[in-house]
Amino acid sequence: MASEDIRHYFDWAATAPPAFPCKPLEFLGNPSSHHSEGRAAKLALENARSRCAAVLNVPAETLYFTSGATESNCIALHSNLFRKAGRVIASDAEHSSIRENVEVQERLGRQAGRIAVDSSGRVNAKLLEKSLEKYGDVRFAAIMAVNNETGAITDTAAIRDVIRKFPGPPVHLHCDLVQAIGKIPVDIPAWDLDSASISAHKIGGPRGIGLLYLRRPLEVICAGGGQERKVRPGTENTEGALALAFCLENRAAPEKIKSEYIPANRRWKKLLNALKTIDRCVIIPRDREEDGFSPYILQAAFRGIPGEVMARALDDLGFSVSTGSACSSSSPERPVLAAMGIEESLSLEGIRISQGWTTTDGEIDLLLEAIAEVLKYL
Ligand code: PLP
Repeated sequence: MASEDIRHYFDWAATAPPAFPCKPLEFLGNPSSHHSEGRAAKLALENARSRCAAVLNVPAETLYFTSGATESNCIALHSNLFRKAGRVIASDAEHSSIRENVEVQERLGRQAGRIAVDSSGRVNAKLLEKSLEKYGDVRFAAIMAVNNETGAITDTAAIRDVIRKFPGPPVHLHCDLVQAIGKIPVDIPAWDLDSASISAHKIGGPRGIGLLYLRRPLEVICAGGGQERKVRPGTENTEGALALAFCLENRAAPEKIKSEYIPANRRWKKLLNALKTIDRCVIIPRDREEDGFSPYILQAAFRGIPGEVMARALDDLGFSVSTGSACSSSSPERPVLAAMGIEESLSLEGIRISQGWTTTDGEIDLLLEAIAEVLKYL
């Protein structure tokens, strides 16, 4: 059994431990200043952008540094709809930074709609087609690449085909890549994305820095100093951008993803198979198959134990898990699980377990022991 003094972190989907060089950087000025320190900062910022672009296989000028994926999602959604007609739709599995901004658009008078998800929490081609046909006036569609609650992977190429073949005015395809980057192969050009969001702190970078990919420049509704080519005004976080570039190179390069995927998958199978033998444990979704899921996220419920109680009991034993998205932790509701058709009583018993590159087989064993321990008294 693990000692409470040694922590075992299983909440990587909320944030990852830092994995970027923390040594003091040379002083960089404000990238907008014209003196030597300012020019050095500008150079560093553009260097970071080019390095991110090289990993993501997109032109550097399509990338904008933001404060994180929440802001990237927000800018992509509101700015793309600014002064344009048409409906905004989003999958029922989207993160609150999409879901709640769709509601803002509704409050502003725009028509909004839903794209249903299957029982695993992913959009498939049929469900998307149904939604596009039902509404007929879609301008902007938001569909995430990996579900942050269940780990379900979207078939983004199939989504692209439906969107691009759909008759009528073009639909803007926005993809939240937060739980995909560094975990599964991501191909922005092949997926034909119009915009996408990335967060540094999910791949070992600092919090407060992210990327917005925009295939084409757009008129943006937030004004300020004109930084980031007016897409994201405000003094740039140069140090954060350099750290993000470092993390993308170290965590999201194709060879890295491949080499980490195999051991991660092996650990996850071990956890999954062991959980399946526990009577009171229900894997969410119940029919979670081997393929089609990220081997970094798992949702499970323990009958008769509210998720919050289970998470607290495991925390007391030294294990960090969560009851869903950290950004929605103030609300007990689990809208994504509800959209998957999970009954409320079960969804309130759900916990999210997520792993990362330092997780070991031994930690999986210890987590299973801790769960068994908790089940003895709860
Ligand atoms: N999108 C998804 C799928 C996420 O999981 C998160 C964070 O939990 C975000 C967006 C928000 O990212 P950030 O913390 O960079 O704002």
